[in-house]
Parts: sequence; C-alpha cells; structure tokens
Amino acid sequence: MEDELSLLEKDKEYLWHPFTQMKEWVEDDQLIIERGEGIKLYDTEGNEYYDGVSSIWLNVHGHQKEELDEAVIDQLDRIAHSTMLGLSNKPAIELAEKLVELTPEGLNKVFYSDSGSTAVEIGLKMAFQYWQQIDHDFGAKDKFITLTNAYHGDTVGSVSVGGVDLFHEIYKPLLFDSLKAPSPYCYRCPFDEEKESCNFSCIKELESMMQEHHHEVAAMVIEPLVQGAGGMIVAPDGYLAKVRELCSEYNILLLADEVAAGFGRTGKMFACEHEDVRPDIMTVAKGISGGYLPISATLTTDEIYDAFYDDYETQKTFFHGHSYTGNPLAAAVSVANIELFKEEKIIEKMPPKIKIAADKLAEFRELDHVGDIRQKGLMIGIELIEDKETKEPYDWKEKMGVKVAMKAREKGMIIRPLGNIVVFMPPLCSTEQQLLDMLEIIYESIKEITS
Ligand code: PMP
Repeated sequence: MEDELSLLEKDKEYLWHPFTQMKEWVEDDQLIIERGEGIKLYDTEGNEYYDGVSSIWLNVHGHQKEELDEAVIDQLDRIAHSTMLGLSNKPAIELAEKLVELTPEGLNKVFYSDSGSTAVEIGLKMAFQYWQQIDHDFGAKDKFITLTNAYHGDTVGSVSVGGVDLFHEIYKPLLFDSLKAPSPYCYRCPFDEEKESCNFSCIKELESMMQEHHHEVAAMVIEPLVQGAGGMIVAPDGYLAKVRELCSEYNILLLADEVAAGFGRTGKMFACEHEDVRPDIMTVAKGISGGYLPISATLTTDEIYDAFYDDYETQKTFFHGHSYTGNPLAAAVSVANIELFKEEKIIEKMPPKIKIAADKLAEFRELDHVGDIRQKGLMIGIELIEDKETKEPYDWKEKMGVKVAMKAREKGMIIRPLGNIVVFMPPLCSTEQQLLDMLEIIYESIKEITS
C-alpha cells in the first residue's frame, strides 16, 4: 500500500497529464493502470475494469494479444529503431504495401509519422505544396475548409483546422486561417431543420463557400462520417459522398482524416468505404498498430506524389520528417495487426455486434436525460441533456459526463466523456455479451447520476 501511495505521489509530483486540469488531478484520487488483458484493465490494487474506450480509441484485438506481442518481440531481436532519412527498413516497406492494398483505390503512396496530429499536419503541408508545384489557374490556394466541431489533433496546424472552441479558442492568435462550414449536427441542426425533412442546408452553405473561395482553398479537411472528439456527431447518409462531389467540382483536394474512424471502428475498414469515397489524402493512426505503438500514416495519390517528383534542383522535395518516422517496431506490430484483422475476421464479425449495441442503446431513449444517441459501428456517443423537450444542455460546469464516467468506474468500467457526451468505443474484439455488459453499466450509471 505504501509503495502504491508513493507511486501516486510521484505521479502528482512529476507528471503533467494531457487534456487534464492538473489541480483536479492532484486533488482527486486517481487510478494507476498496471496491466491489461483482453478487454480488461487492472489497476495497481488489482481491481479490474472493462476498457470501454479502447484506451483512447486505439485498441482493436485486446491487450496482451499474443500475435502482437510476438511481432514486437521478433522485431526486437533484429532492431528497435532506425532512421527513414536516407535509409529504409523492412517492416515499414511491408506495412506500406499493406496500407496501399487496404485503403480506398488510388491512395498509392504512404508517408509515415507517429501520431494522428502529425499525420494531419503532413496532409495539410502536402496539399498546400501540391498546388504550389503544379500549373493551375487558381490563386494562392493557401486556405482549408473545415467544419465546426472538427477535431484533427493538437499541433498548431491541426488545431488551425479544428473547430472545438473549448480546446482551440485560446490559440487563435497563433493559427492560420481556415474557413468553417457548418457541422452536420442533426440533433442541434444549425439551420433548425428536422432529420425527416432535411434538405441539406449545411451542404448548400458548404457549396456557396466553395463557389466563393475555391480559388484560394487547397483542401477540405473532414472526419469521414463521424466527428469524434467534437461530440461523436454522425453525418447523415450521403453527406460525405456529396462533399467528395463538391471538392471535385471546385478543384479542392479532399483530406479524409480517418485517425479515429479508420481500422474498423465504423463497421468497415475505413469510414470512406460506406459511401465509396476516394479521398486525395487520407490520414490513419490509432487502430493502425492495434493500439500497441505510436505510428501513423498519411496516404496520397500518384497525382499528388508526382507533383513532388522531380530533380532536386527544382526544389520540389517534401521537407518533412520526424525522428521516429517509420519506426520498425511500430511498423512490425502494425503489419501483424492488419493480418489479425483478416485472420480473426474482425470486420465480418462486426454487423451482429453493431446490431446488438443498437438494440440495447434503443432502451436508453426511455431515460429522461438522454437527448440523442449517435452510433456508427462501434463509435458511440450518448448526449445527456437537462431538458428533453427543449434540448437544453446541462451546464458544462455540472460535469455530468464526468460524473457518469466515475459512476461507471465504480461499476468496473473505464470510459472518458466529451463534455455532456458519454462516449463508448469498446475494443472491436469485444464479444456480444461483453458489449451488453458494458452498455448495461453505462445505462445504470446514467440512470443513477441523472435521476
Ligand atoms: N484526428 C482525429 C479525427 C482524431 O480523433 C484525433 C485524436 N482523437 C487526431 C486526429 C489526433 O490524433 P493524436 O491524438 O494521435 O495526435
């Protein structure tokens, strides 16, 4: 017990946690996770918890997955790191080939980095530089169109294309301009339309924006189908396909940020597949290594790649690269992760899991303070509200989402909310029974906290 206490004291003495008000962290009791197995996490006191948000939306096959452990160990027997600057490595090559095979047709080139944010950052720079290096009749093309409620990461570039005021507002003086189109947030439609009679006013506004600004816009950046950290906002059917159509019509590149939605989360390998959309640039991270090691990739087309491919003297090189780029341990475990997707038929097994979750979630509608339930595959957000009739939200200072998460913790599950949105992102390997158990914990927690 003494050791554990001192470990926590050391945490509070030395660590600064991400997205955390440290005063609260220091004043409250905290868990230290020591071990994971399957979809369970174990703290230093031996308590077990369901990993209800896949350890921040990453985990696919569970913790301590034998095949993934072995892939890391095998690679450790060879080399743990090497540089991609002037050299290559075997796992990075193998993974690139697999990614090209797996992603939508036309994405033929893979550029590595180590987080979702850097993958987006790279996509932004690529898009901008692409337009600089080809002959075209437009203007400078140095702006991006993004959506309100968008979240693309925490680096300055990715924050510039973000649209979550709570996280992004304070940095405004540091950011470059992006044009914000309305988010397809149907429950709180910015045009006061009803789902049943919606005539896509958000798309119409996007189109006028493109009409007016296409000559200065390099790319539209979008989280395909679900705006994750902005509140698990699921776009209506056909929205993404329409965005693709408009981007092509107005000569704007489409950057699909699949960092959260990719690798099976929405029920298909990539969210773009639901609407047969082929982006010009696509970012992947999180599920790429099954959650094991930090690695991400920005994929693009031959057309974009070719705009950089020339004699050195023409100065068209893409001058970007991080020290850990294409790390062989991370690449090796990612290759094993992709193989496991096939061997364990992760995608094929999703439909009944999605259905059982949807059926259970339907019961949540009877709760007085559940306003909206949003689900795409196993990407789920439950919006808690003060008043069901008026859709009045809970005051954010009441921290209802956090209270529900803490109640769930008492009942043996870790979840992390987004304001008033209770997020459920279970590992994709969860069984139907485990999904039901976890949803029952969420149901009971919401009921107890809101009644
Ligand atoms: N894009 C999207 C859509 C995300 O959801 C996230 C992270 N939640 C990021 C980018 C940033 O990824 P990372 O935290 O790995 O930098």
